[in-house]
Amino acid sequence: MGNTQKTRYIFVTGGVISGLGKGITAASIGAVLKARGIKVSMQKLDVYLNVDAGLLNPREHGECFVTKDGAETDLDLGHYERFLDEEFTSDSSVMSGRILLNLINAERSGYFRGDDVQIVPHLTSEIEKYVMKAGEGSDIHIVEIGGTVGDIESDAFLEAVRQMALNHPGRCAFVHVVYVPYISTSKEFKTKPAQNSMRDLRGIGIMPDIVAVRAEGPLPDYVRDKISLFGGLPKEAVVMLPNADTVYRVPRTLYDSGIGWIFFKKFGMTPKEPAMAKWDKLIEAATTKYKDTVRIGVIAKYLDNEDTYLSVIEALRAAAWHNQVNLAFDWVDAEKIEKHGAGSLSQYDGLLVPGGFGSRGLEGMVACARYAMDNQLPYLGICLGMQMAVVAAARKAGLEDAISSEVQPGAKHPVIYIMAGQEGKESTGGTLRLGNYPCVIQKGSLAEKVYGSTDIIERHRHRYEVNQKYTEYYEKAGLSLSGKSPNGKLVEMIEHTNHPYFIGTQAHPEFKSRPDRPHVLFDGLVKAAIVRQQKSATA
Ligand code: GLN
Repeated sequence: MGNTQKTRYIFVTGGVISGLGKGITAASIGAVLKARGIKVSMQKLDVYLNVDAGLLNPREHGECFVTKDGAETDLDLGHYERFLDEEFTSDSSVMSGRILLNLINAERSGYFRGDDVQIVPHLTSEIEKYVMKAGEGSDIHIVEIGGTVGDIESDAFLEAVRQMALNHPGRCAFVHVVYVPYISTSKEFKTKPAQNSMRDLRGIGIMPDIVAVRAEGPLPDYVRDKISLFGGLPKEAVVMLPNADTVYRVPRTLYDSGIGWIFFKKFGMTPKEPAMAKWDKLIEAATTKYKDTVRIGVIAKYLDNEDTYLSVIEALRAAAWHNQVNLAFDWVDAEKIEKHGAGSLSQYDGLLVPGGFGSRGLEGMVACARYAMDNQLPYLGICLGMQMAVVAAARKAGLEDAISSEVQPGAKHPVIYIMAGQEGKESTGGTLRLGNYPCVIQKGSLAEKVYGSTDIIERHRHRYEVNQKYTEYYEKAGLSLSGKSPNGKLVEMIEHTNHPYFIGTQAHPEFKSRPDRPHVLFDGLVKAAIVRQQKSATA
């Protein structure tokens, strides 16, 4: 766009409660702007004192998303990539700890020449630098600020972005996402918590340009009137976001509300004609009830928080829509399979074993892989899921004590063993093999057929790898090592040579899947599941 020599910034804050869908709202604003021909970048500022998301417990924090350049980030980065269909980098995910660590290292190196180092201005201007860097080259840079306004941790970030609005007049806009609870006994929506949160934001010196109202159901007009009155902003600037049947409807809802014009006017931009057809097609694909349903068992070990497997499930859903079937997936508790055996898996048309860490539930995963192998049941093993398929194959070929050294350091037959240079780093942050790595696929393999190529790049997050010393055992059980690193040292993909679809990858293909363009490995699983189901229906 010719009239945007300088990047504009949209800051998205949240009020009332966490878990509002602020990430989806921010990503959807990005999607709508992109549909208008605007070059958009996105960034999450996380208030935790952690340096990155790598060591956070997935049970509490949900999935750890990995960028192509190997940053371990919050799951909101996944929303940004899926909604904008872009690959972002470590610049797009900043946690407090990372900024503080750099600041303190600078102080130790004498950089401040004896000055006091303070939250304002040192930390705040450091935050500004991170924001400016991530936004470089974009027309609009959207920054989501983690946490809830009023949290002690978010103060420095809010102060930094308030100052940015002063430093860059006319180039910063604010969106505040609030929650309006419904009280069923009095049948009323209550705006008081939202009013309080808008007041808190004003107290910090930030006046929102737009307030997005999240609620459990459709909101009556009086809610808009009250938010407008107490927030001191025009009614057109209050956008209602009741729960949607699919998250991919949110860009459409935002577009229809016309809020884009609030940004364009403020920023003095002339957008292109909107291209919303992609979103309408996606909404239709995601909400249609299809004739057939495939049943996929997802063998999981972190069952108390489904967000742990967010990108995996989004990839499975996208594959089902692409093949025009309904997806019915069950969480299968790996520990229950360990205790009660794998017999219950016969009800599924396909199995997916995702990534994970630690020893809990691993024997259950091995049992699932073995069941799929022996029963021609489609199987996709991702990272840990591939490693456990290798353990299952080695045991099937007679190496009964085959195991991963993640479970048994010093094991006699470590078919999965620690990568060179990783010893002793097992509990340290940022030390896994992370981000994009190439893989060369064997000609004539299932992997080649699925990818349609012999040279691929996928994102990684692992410390252990397949031990090629035992290749003869894997092959005896029918497994072939069908993808390797270019120097042949690391095994990247495995597959069963006498099976409709038994495939594993050391990487995390789910991160590159898109709602309208499912990753080929997930698409392959769903296609194989459909074939299996049709066969069993006619049997
Ligand atoms: N725990 C395994 C490893 O470190 C698998 C990792 C994963 O599934 N992401 O190699």
